[in-house]
Amino acid sequence: MINLLGSDRGMLADYFLARGERSFRADQVVKWVHQQGITDFSAMTNLSKPLRERLAAEARVEPPVVIADTRSNDGTRKWLLRLADGNCIETVFIPEPDRGTLCLSSQVGCALNCTFCATARQGYNRNMDAHEIIGQVWLARRLVSEDGREPPITNVVLMGMGEPLLNFESVTRAISLMLDDFAYGLSRRRVTLSTAGLVPGIDRLREECPVSLAVSLHAPSDRLRDELVPLNRKYPIAQLLDACRRYAAAAPRTRITFEYVMLDGVNDAPEHARQLARLLADVPAKVNLIPFNAFQGVRLRRSEPEAIDRFRDVLLEAGLMTITRRTRGDDIDAACGQLAGRVLDRTSRTRRMRDPAPGGTA
Ligand code: SAH
Repeated sequence: MINLLGSDRGMLADYFLARGERSFRADQVVKWVHQQGITDFSAMTNLSKPLRERLAAEARVEPPVVIADTRSNDGTRKWLLRLADGNCIETVFIPEPDRGTLCLSSQVGCALNCTFCATARQGYNRNMDAHEIIGQVWLARRLVSEDGREPPITNVVLMGMGEPLLNFESVTRAISLMLDDFAYGLSRRRVTLSTAGLVPGIDRLREECPVSLAVSLHAPSDRLRDELVPLNRKYPIAQLLDACRRYAAAAPRTRITFEYVMLDGVNDAPEHARQLARLLADVPAKVNLIPFNAFQGVRLRRSEPEAIDRFRDVLLEAGLMTITRRTRGDDIDAACGQLAGRVLDRTSRTRRMRDPAPGGTA
């Protein structure tokens, strides 16, 4: 049975036209589902009774199931969500005085094997469907408004589990619902996709679904980046930055965020900062320094605060807009790179997926 939670307005219009209905039924259903949070077709009172019955017989609106709701001392919330096949993923909500940021997962696990990321240890099971991706927004919106004390969701970042550009179709369909005024009505600036650097995917995003882009750079040389982000062997830094320049050129006045995880004694020396500043000199960039978040079984360490400040100052002096990301939710393993969920059947698929083809986006 089709799960209409993940259908955008265009798809729903096709669905209704194919059934002899007018296309504006799509507008109505999108509003019921995403603005009113209604999943029961019989409650959609502006649809005809026969249409409601037909929908009930052949479709459903089914979000993932919340199996844990954890709250950090700093107010960050993390939900463990179970998908229909038993896999679990995590979603994080970060309230701040002036905004609420929701961090979404896009794959069950991840195949990219970045050495500093907990999700990589989980292996990879599968891409998430569009209804599972937008389902995180659907659920979070309800849970956050029930709480009453929290700010509404004003920003969405695809920075949870998985590489969103390896799941292009479902991710962009979910984004089209985030941007749709009949659904969540977020502006493109407030939806950020973070990628480990899949060059063809960045180009395709520029053409088909330009939202804010964040790139996980983490190292200023191919030699070091090959180690930290193995995808770099396929798409080295020069190619990646070319794609970033194309992306920035298509969207004037916006900057690309470059994420840089601060690892003690690995990539945090002033010389690395100087190299990074040279690399980004002609890219409309801002740099986000992320103090490394540890997890079980990892030997890497977070840079000392003085090293992070020194690194930041080198970049600022070179004229680069730079901030250090405040660590949020690490007491509940909800900080960057700590998401794990529960990935089923990971060994066989991880082996098959070890070297993901860029065709994932083609
Ligand atoms: N696959 C995408 C999105 C997921 S990761 C990407 O690579 O961008 C979201 C961000 O968290 C990335 O910048 C990632 O490099 C960073 N990250 C991963 N593990 C981390 C850790 N242990 N500590 C701090 N940041 C981490």
